[in-house]
Amino acid sequence: MKKVHNFSAGPSILPTEVIQQTANAIQEFDGMGLSILEISHRSKNFEKVVAEARQSVKEILNLPDRYEVLFLQGGATLGFHIAAMNFMKEGGKAVYANTGVWASGAIKEAKLIGQVDVPFDSAASNHNHIPEVDFKGNYDFAHYTSNNTIYGTQYHYTPKSEMPLVCDMSSDIFSRPLDASAHALIYAGAQKNLGPAGATLYIVDKELLGQTGRKLPVYMDLQAHIDKDSMYNTPPVLSIYTCMLTLRWIKELGGLEGMEKRNSAKQSLFYTELDRNGLFQGHAVESARSWMNPTFRLNDDQLAAEFDAMWKEAGISGIAGHRSVGGYRASMYNALPIESVQVLVDVMKEFERVKG
Ligand SMILES: *Cc1c(COP(=O)(O)O)cnc(C)c1O
Repeated sequence: MKKVHNFSAGPSILPTEVIQQTANAIQEFDGMGLSILEISHRSKNFEKVVAEARQSVKEILNLPDRYEVLFLQGGATLGFHIAAMNFMKEGGKAVYANTGVWASGAIKEAKLIGQVDVPFDSAASNHNHIPEVDFKGNYDFAHYTSNNTIYGTQYHYTPKSEMPLVCDMSSDIFSRPLDASAHALIYAGAQKNLGPAGATLYIVDKELLGQTGRKLPVYMDLQAHIDKDSMYNTPPVLSIYTCMLTLRWIKELGGLEGMEKRNSAKQSLFYTELDRNGLFQGHAVESARSWMNPTFRLNDDQLAAEFDAMWKEAGISGIAGHRSVGGYRASMYNALPIESVQVLVDVMKEFERVKG
């Protein structure tokens, strides 16, 4: 197989050994003589997988006992709605920070459930920074998006909040240590840092549930999933299996401290070159730069065809920018090795040598 450097924004790169082990389980799972695709989710063999995945999240985050871990479906998009439905009281209101496309999506969904105020908003500068967010006032909950996958900005602090704090962590979960216990709810689609599309991770403080006075459809009710150990209905079996393997991989590499070291080295290598190289500029202001999704562009767009030919020739895949920002986005999720970042940096240097 040709070596491809996978900078895709999502679904995205997974550890090679995790993909190999997933492939093996599709052939035959756990000595059962069957594929993992064709077994009951109620079999002992699969119950072990869900239990390990949930336990690993608790260990990696060092979660207090009041937290529960669930692997549901629907992506972060359903998470927008589940978050609001489980924390917004009847006739209540919530406060949100708008820092990008996904934050705006979360706000739109919450408005279907109740009143939403947005006192923090970076839209006027095309979401190139993170406002100083400090949630105050009489709201049922506060919501932010820790990493803005499309604009390439990231909170480098946990916002203060006087009310239960909810976060969409889809694109930077497990990329570095985080204060999970400051949150009432964290949710994240698997397909950025955790596994294949299909599973969505929920980490919830169960002591804060059941206070809205709402009747919820069962799938939207986090308590219903907790009561059934994350197996209320058929879960996304294969996606959870791969998530479980990725969580093992994270633990083997030193947990969140290990991930932070790995990701810090990558972002430093990349941004050092971006700042040094006169042909490029970044989208995000320095203090808000994302470690996961650096966004950048050429100062002279007319050079794009030549630059594109060079990185493609080097085996780089997936760095075309999102249409709302333009330019390039080099996503560097946990599984991306630093060698791939070095290849991109070498291409940028070579491009400067030829064009500069
Ligand atoms: C990718 C992404 C989403 C959308 O996730 P789906 O699983 O496709 O619904 C939402 N929020 C963030 C921060 C994302 O990166």
